Amino acid sequence: MDLQITDRTYLVTGGSSGVGLATVELLLAEGANVLTCARDAGRLTAAIEALPGSQRALALPCDVRDTSAVRAMIDAGVQRFGGLDGVVNNAGASRMKSRSEATMEDWRDELDLKFAGVLNTVEAALPALRRSPVGAIVNISAVLARQPEPRLVTTSAARAGLLNLSKSLSLEFAADGIRVNSVSLGLVDTGQWRRRYEQSQSGLSFAQWEAELAADRGIGLGRFGRAEEVATMIVTLLSPRASYVTGASLDVCGGVARYV
Ligand code: NDP
Repeated sequence: MDLQITDRTYLVTGGSSGVGLATVELLLAEGANVLTCARDAGRLTAAIEALPGSQRALALPCDVRDTSAVRAMIDAGVQRFGGLDGVVNNAGASRMKSRSEATMEDWRDELDLKFAGVLNTVEAALPALRRSPVGAIVNISAVLARQPEPRLVTTSAARAGLLNLSKSLSLEFAADGIRVNSVSLGLVDTGQWRRRYEQSQSGLSFAQWEAELAADRGIGLGRFGRAEEVATMIVTLLSPRASYVTGASLDVCGGVARYV
């Protein structure tokens, strides 16, 4: 099926690794132009330059919490590609802290990343998205939003707020023809989990460690997701093929979600 995104332009935040990088790769493979950002410029450039079709990508260092840096990054992308058709708010990280461990600074940092990081891109991208006939936003969230983990208390609460915000944005922007959806992740094998595996010094292979954790967390399919599996669903929601889907939240979680 042709996703009808050839020559369209998409912003993916946090494109140097994991889900973001897989999404950039898939968009380029489908013939789209891609604007992407991350804080570590060297890692971002190396990752994007290694992709087929990288001549259609513009990778700029930018912290999504910085309002003026986000505006400058998006302006540069719109100028280079002549417009913007969609945004994937993917940049982020989780914070492994319980309520008693989390400081007020942890809470502020978490809310800053999960809210300012999204609101900054949405605000700066809005004029260009309004000009596009197929404007779409996909916000990356987590199953934690509706199935909180006490050991990830700040991330769970912030993800719940983001899910709520995404619904509000979908209602507000529907009149402009801009669709807004969320993709809620379970456990996906990316840099975050590789780092946790290394820190665990468990003595197990990554595959054994992953299988134990999958059983412990009750992942129905018995394994972590792959970044490419998430990217496929993100790009499908961005595509005009999903033209009647807005305000939705799609779980990509291998069955770890227990809610109905
Ligand atoms: P990775 O750690 O592999 O990649 C995160 C990306 O975001 C990197 O490119 C990183 O680059 C960038 N980034 C982080 N903070 C900022 C910032 N302030 N400004 C700009 N870029 C930033 O993460 P994943 O691919 O695993 O996760 C992608 C998204 O999915 C995240 O929002 C994450 O919280 C969410 N998620 C992931 C889950 C998982 O199991 N993997 C589960 C649930 C949700 P740099 O550090 O250079 O800025």
